[in-house]
Amino acid sequence: MKRSILSILILFLSFQYLSAASDPPAWGFFGHRLINRMAVFTLPPEMISFYKANIEYLTEHAVDPDKRRYAARLEAARHYMDMDQFGYYPFESLPRTWYPFLATYANVYVVLDDKDTVRVMGEGVWRGSNKEYKVISDSLLALLDTQYYRVPLRDMHQFAAFSINKAYRHDEWEYSRDSLKGIFPNAAFLSRVTKVFGNASFSEHGLLPYNLDEMFNRLVKAFVAMDKNAILRLSAELGHYIGDAHVPLHTTKNYNGQLTNQDGIHAFWESRIPELFADEEFDFLVGKAQFIKETNDYFWKVIFDSNEGVKLVLDIENNLKKSFPEDQQFCYENRLQQVIRTQCRDFAKAYMVALDGQVEDRMREAIISVGNIWYTAWVTAGQPDLKLLKDAQLSAQEQADQEELEKKFQQGKGYGRNHE
Ligand SMILES: [Zn+2]
Repeated sequence: MKRSILSILILFLSFQYLSAASDPPAWGFFGHRLINRMAVFTLPPEMISFYKANIEYLTEHAVDPDKRRYAARLEAARHYMDMDQFGYYPFESLPRTWYPFLATYANVYVVLDDKDTVRVMGEGVWRGSNKEYKVISDSLLALLDTQYYRVPLRDMHQFAAFSINKAYRHDEWEYSRDSLKGIFPNAAFLSRVTKVFGNASFSEHGLLPYNLDEMFNRLVKAFVAMDKNAILRLSAELGHYIGDAHVPLHTTKNYNGQLTNQDGIHAFWESRIPELFADEEFDFLVGKAQFIKETNDYFWKVIFDSNEGVKLVLDIENNLKKSFPEDQQFCYENRLQQVIRTQCRDFAKAYMVALDGQVEDRMREAIISVGNIWYTAWVTAGQPDLKLLKDAQLSAQEQADQEELEKKFQQGKGYGRNHE
């Protein structure tokens, strides 16, 4: 109980801090900072002292992944997953882990000696089951000169892990012809191949769940290595991505209402409402962090839950726009010496109420999830004694990365979607 009272106290102090921080215009920064900050108070005694001692860092750096969108082209995809691209719940054909995902969706092409180009990997080329991958593309079957071609799961996943995974971050990449022998060991067409290349276009529908797995594993490793800087950086950033996973509009192609004439709904839901009402009306006593046995299942569950909320987010706003007096929906406000047009307070309140607590619920879930995952990473690493962590200077590389991040962010335009 003592912890709850303390939390409330810190909560009040936090808002002062969060609101005072002067920022570039991205409003979603408020929510991310708040989520990381509140997550600290869900932690068990063995962790909380260390996290509390570093709460300013965890708060401030909760937004680094969004800043990184200004420095790295593929960063944007790590913040969302367009579930509507992949069918319907329970999305059975969508691989839940990274190498099978790459094996199913990453595009690889071969150029032949007659200049013909054939896609040999990518959506619609293979179909995976739990024991093998089977070619379903007619043009690849023609190239293979057969009606039936399959490879064992393991060979395909090795190809994904060793070839595609190493290359996919680049705009366009080339492979050696030999790398294809992993999946086409005796294929005659290989002798006619003059070039093998791929591109990252498959990532445009998002990589968030796979990114959560990767960040979690990195955090576990940082705990094992007792690398203080890495523990803090990865905790802060994982907190950000978990926060994103709780936002319904981070799970749909219609991420800003642009397909249903509801432009601006992204920031309305995830920024405007929390900024106006979180401090007065949201309850952030979310309980204690729990150990998560299957983190991959857990991350997907979060995304499915968010995705289920998309319809409500859109429908309620659509109905409200029709019933609420039109001239009272948008107001002008001064912000950082600029006049901006934004949803009026009463209109935002009406939206929040009609959503029946959805924004608050997702934010509360995000806070406890961040706590759960920090805690689970620490337990998975063998519960190292965090009192032994020593201050360490940032390495020259860490320092340079941080400076580059700030510089690119201050300069301007991000890559990809304008999401927080
Ligand atoms: Zn984000």
